[in-house]
Amino acid sequence: SKGLGRNCFSYFTSSMQETAQTRMRLANDLREALSGRQLLVYYQPIVELASGAIHKAEALLRWRHPARGLVGPGDFIHIAEETGLIVDIGNWVFRQAAAQALRWRTAHHPAFQVSVNLSPAQFRGKAGARAPWIDNLRKLGLPGEGIVAEITEGLLLEASTAVFNQLLEFRDAKIQVALDDFGTGYSSLSYLQKFDIDYIKIDRSFVRNLKPAAHDLVLCEAMIVMAHKLGMKVIAEGVETEIQRDLLAAAGCDFGQGYLFSRPVPAGEFERLLSDSLTP
Ligand code: C2E
Ligand code: CA
Ligand code: CA
Ligand code: CA
Repeated sequence: SKGLGRNCFSYFTSSMQETAQTRMRLANDLREALSGRQLLVYYQPIVELASGAIHKAEALLRWRHPARGLVGPGDFIHIAEETGLIVDIGNWVFRQAAAQALRWRTAHHPAFQVSVNLSPAQFRGKAGARAPWIDNLRKLGLPGEGIVAEITEGLLLEASTAVFNQLLEFRDAKIQVALDDFGTGYSSLSYLQKFDIDYIKIDRSFVRNLKPAAHDLVLCEAMIVMAHKLGMKVIAEGVETEIQRDLLAAAGCDFGQGYLFSRPVPAGEFERLLSDSLTP
């Protein structure tokens, strides 16, 4: 997939080419990265299309590797998942994101939300692996609405008791749920009614070729209408051009996220985006 610096080092090859040895080294380094403060969370604004306002952000993991520079999650998340490290890393990301959400709710917008990505592996671990989340919210005094859990369609199709229970726990804690990469995975839509989903995120692949009268525009429009009828809001991913933004806005899409607005940036830089968006 699409990591930063993907082509730069043989160490981060595609998972198909990785040898057992490389993977083991990567897993060890990743363990050290977590304890050695080499992991960072970047934030990308999610923009309300009608107003241009920013009161949401997605938390995206980065690894500042001592020798290899800034590395994106596409190059190491799979190792974290296979080794189970994703549970500790995910909890760490959650704590960072929750602290920022609290800050930005106080300093910027009372309904500010930060989205956190959840790997299916985080649901499969021992029961209670996610309990620290709810604890953490309580300790911080952050309402659940401050957090959006981004999950993928595949997880819902598993329809396991563990997944079900976790989503119920989120609902009780008022944590919001977004369905990531929507439209790419499976054709069964029945689970949209079975679970309490607050947002769908239209996958970048539908946004990439948006132009007037394009098939992809028809698909986006259909997803938006369906989502709204089911009481969900829509976030379009990978918005890179003004044409894409305008077509999505005209189709009634609620939010956009993408390089047109900003790349993912460190928290400090994100705060500058927030204060800039306030000045007319
Ligand atoms: P995702 O959840 O689909 O995140 C969106 C990805 O699209 C991010 O890549 C983001 O930088 C990129 N992106 C945003 N706007 C644009 C655009 O306009 N054009 C293009 N071409 N790309 C755009 P990133 O940060 O490399 O993350 C890749 C994936 O890694 C994420 O995909 C997510 O599945 C996973 N990930 C990231 N952070 C975490 C995390 O903390 N935990 C877990 N479990 N997975 C994570
Ligand atoms: Ca996501
Ligand atoms: Ca909900
Ligand atoms: Ca996505």
